[in-house]
Amino acid sequence: MPGTTTTNPPQEEEELPKKNNNETMTTLDTLVVFYNRDKVIESDESPETETFAARCHCGNVNFTVTLPTSYLPLNAYICSCTLCRYTHGTFGSYHVSLPQGVAPEWTSNTLNLSVYKTPGSGAGGHGQRIFCPTCGAHNGHYEAWAGQWIIEPSLFDAPIFWRFRGIGFPNSAGDGGVLSWLPEVGGRKLTQVSMDHDFAPDYEAEVGADGGERLRAECKCGGVSFTIPRPGEKVKGDAYLRRYVSPTDPGKWKAFLDFCRDCRLVSSAHGVPWVLVPRTVLEPEVPPDLRFGTVKTYKSSEDVTRGFCGVCGATVFIKCKDRSPTEETEVLNIAVGILRAPEGAKAENWVTWRAGNPEWVEDAMDYDPEFVEAVVDGHREWAIEKYGEALDFDVM
Ligand SMILES: [Zn+2]
Ligand SMILES: [Zn+2]
Ligand SMILES: [Zn+2]
Repeated sequence: MPGTTTTNPPQEEEELPKKNNNETMTTLDTLVVFYNRDKVIESDESPETETFAARCHCGNVNFTVTLPTSYLPLNAYICSCTLCRYTHGTFGSYHVSLPQGVAPEWTSNTLNLSVYKTPGSGAGGHGQRIFCPTCGAHNGHYEAWAGQWIIEPSLFDAPIFWRFRGIGFPNSAGDGGVLSWLPEVGGRKLTQVSMDHDFAPDYEAEVGADGGERLRAECKCGGVSFTIPRPGEKVKGDAYLRRYVSPTDPGKWKAFLDFCRDCRLVSSAHGVPWVLVPRTVLEPEVPPDLRFGTVKTYKSSEDVTRGFCGVCGATVFIKCKDRSPTEETEVLNIAVGILRAPEGAKAENWVTWRAGNPEWVEDAMDYDPEFVEAVVDGHREWAIEKYGEALDFDVM
C-alpha cells in the first residue's frame, strides 16, 4: 500500500474545503499545507537524505522516516475533529503527512500494534488509527485516498523536522478548541481547513441521581465512559480535596496544559490538557487501580500510573503518588480531550484554566520551541482578553 497513489478522495472530501469565513480555499493550498504535496524529487536525482527516529514512551513501537533534506521542514497540522480528539484525549491529533512515496520503516523487533477502526470508516484508512498496546501512544495512519502516511510528530525527539502550518476541523471543537490559543505559530497565521461535516457535536447537559449537573467523559469507542460532578460538600469539606476546586469559581475544577515529555510520548501530542478531579466523586466510581471498561494501565515512572483506552488508544487518566495522600482522597488527572461539554472542547463552564503558567514548559522549549512558545503566549493572551487575567495556581 505505501507508495501507491489513488486520486479519488473520500466522498465527504469532494467539496472544496472552506475557510472559517466561508471563503473557498484552493485545493492546492490544502494539498501543500496539509499534505506536503509540493515536496517532489526529479526522478533522476538521488537526493541527500536525513533519517529521524520515533519511539513511543514504552519503547514497544519504533519507526524511522528517511526524508530528502530538500523537503525540510515539512508542514505539520493539528486536526481537531472528534475522531482525533476522542482517540487521543487531547485537543486534536498532531500530524505530519509524509510526502508521497515516503513510508515509516518499522524498526521494532516484533511489530506489536493495536489498530482502532472507526465504525463506518470504510476501507480508506482515514478511520484506522494505529497505537501502542502497551502505553497507548498513537503512531498515525495511512490515508489511502491520498496515498500517504500521516504520522504523529510528537513521537520524535529533537531535532524536529516540521513546522506547524494548519488546523483541520476548527469548528468541531465548538469553542475554537486549541485554535483559540494558536492565532499564529512562528509569526505564521495557521491555515484552517473546514468541511461540510465540520460542526460541533450537540451534547445535552447531563443530570445525576441527586439532580446535580454532570459532565460526561468518554473516549471515541465508548469503552471508557463516566461522569464528573460539580465540586460538592464532600470535596469542599475536605482539607485536601478542596485544594482542587477552582480558585475563582466554586463550581469548577482546576485545569492546565502539560508539556512534559512523558505526557507527549504516551499521548502523541505536544501538550496534554488535564483537569484534576477526586477519584471517588466520579460516576461510576473509578476503582483505585483505574481498571474498568476498556481501560489499560501503564506505569510511566515509579510513582505515575496512566490509564488509556485499550480499544481506541485515548489517553484517559493519570494517578500519581503526589496527588494520592490516601486512597479516599486520590485526585486523578482526566484528559480534557475526552470531555463532552456542551459548550465546547475547552469545557469552560466546568474548568478554570491555569493559563498563566502551563506545566513543564521548560522541558518542551528544548523540543519544539516555536510551537510551545506560540501556545503558551496564545493561552495567556486568550485568558487576559476573556477573563481579565491569566491565572497561576497550585496543581499539586
Ligand atoms: Zn481528525
Ligand atoms: Zn508504547
Ligand atoms: Zn476507547
